[in-house]
Amino acid sequence: MNILHISAECFPIAKVGGLADVVGALPNYQKKLRVNSNVVIPYYNNDFSKKNDFKEIYKSDIKLGTDYFDFRILKLLNSKLGFDVFCVDVPKLLYKDYVYSTDDTERFLAFQIATLDWLLTFDEKPTLIHTHDHHTGLIPFMMSQSHKYESLKNIPTVLTIHNAQYQGWFPHDKVSLIPPFNFRNVGLLDWGGNINPLAAAIKCAWRVTTVSPSYMEELKQNANGLESLLLHERAKCIGILNGIDWNVWNPETDKTIIKTFSASTAISGKKANKKWLCKKFNLDENKPLFCFIGRLVGEKGADLFSSIFTKALKENDISILLLGSGNKETEAQLKEIDNNKSYNSFIGYDEKLAHIFYAGSDFILMPSRVEPCGLNQMYALRYGTTPIVNAIGGLKDTVIDIDDNGYGICHDGVSIQKVSNAISRANNFYTEKVRYEQNIKKIMKIDYSWNNSAQEYVKLYQSLKK
Ligand code: ADP
Repeated sequence: MNILHISAECFPIAKVGGLADVVGALPNYQKKLRVNSNVVIPYYNNDFSKKNDFKEIYKSDIKLGTDYFDFRILKLLNSKLGFDVFCVDVPKLLYKDYVYSTDDTERFLAFQIATLDWLLTFDEKPTLIHTHDHHTGLIPFMMSQSHKYESLKNIPTVLTIHNAQYQGWFPHDKVSLIPPFNFRNVGLLDWGGNINPLAAAIKCAWRVTTVSPSYMEELKQNANGLESLLLHERAKCIGILNGIDWNVWNPETDKTIIKTFSASTAISGKKANKKWLCKKFNLDENKPLFCFIGRLVGEKGADLFSSIFTKALKENDISILLLGSGNKETEAQLKEIDNNKSYNSFIGYDEKLAHIFYAGSDFILMPSRVEPCGLNQMYALRYGTTPIVNAIGGLKDTVIDIDDNGYGICHDGVSIQKVSNAISRANNFYTEKVRYEQNIKKIMKIDYSWNNSAQEYVKLYQSLKK
């Protein structure tokens, strides 16, 4: 089988969040299962593009409405990623120093059209196209409806929903940007009076997956307007839990952390990483360290962080450290919290620092209101850091509470009171030294690598093979 993943992000080429980690890892785990899996991604103006060599393998132009844009397909040379990477270079639209912005409609349409135009030229077509989120959501529609792509019609398509909050809506007056199709079927593009690429993909893809089983169930109740569509299409929908890449996230070999460690050396290894973090961020290394890493948005509960942290710091002798960026108001609030050697933050994005956070923290906070899968809790477990989570979506599927014979702290719902109570519970747990240290060793051995989930995807692909 030849699978092409088409995505806006792929680690380490371009990463905004978990989507990149998934697309950067899944192909390798699928290769282990003898499925030839490769990736198509936009060519961005970033460090990766500048530091790597590419070979032009195709060149043409696309028509977007009445305008023409030149594009090239660039193949990454000497790919150390384990799979082939094809970058779609549309200089005027995609080659930017950002992944997402306000001009995404035209940019990602150009990406999708250029990709399909290139696929038309293949002698041997891929066995299956795997699209990810709304940025590539019009591909299943165009493959099944646009006259131009008639020859791609019989290639099965899979859509994975990594986050249903974002749907890529745009008004119908931009419909002419999409290559001509039988206009009687324009309804396939529509949801609630707008063109909705995620809805179009749910309607047109052969199968739809979400990144955890619980998230799939939750979406049928609340999917930012798409719940009735998901209920209607439920027969072709399945939740497959994301995994993590053990080649990248391995505390025994991780070159980005201060001291590597295994389950048997975790206590001293974690201590060395914590010491470095506490020194860098002016915190007391003797107190339990609670961290947050992620996007500062409502989905992650970030609007409550300032109040939660202030309350938790008043009630417990702990330290809190945050790494993230996002909502500007939240960022400002977080900078104002009285630090007094027990709180600090790094507002920004720093991949290396994130690894040290996972390695050096005692607890990771994830009071998410929406969490399709969540990777942070799985990275935390791998690095011996106990997760504190709101039990929803993928968090519910991966973390079991210590009081239920499990290994994490779960709370039911997100409020200042509920999260600070969970922090206090965690602080009590930390004082039970023997039990707490046993837990570190236990969680490091839990296998949330892609080994299992990659197999589930392959089973799904096989079920679509003609
Ligand atoms: P989402 O995709 O919703 O942002 P996930 O938990 O699925 O959340 O994935 C988040 C990924 O992004 C993790 O790899 C996490 O370590 C990383 N990440 C998020 N924010 C930052 C940041 N500020 N600096 C470094 N890494 C970050």
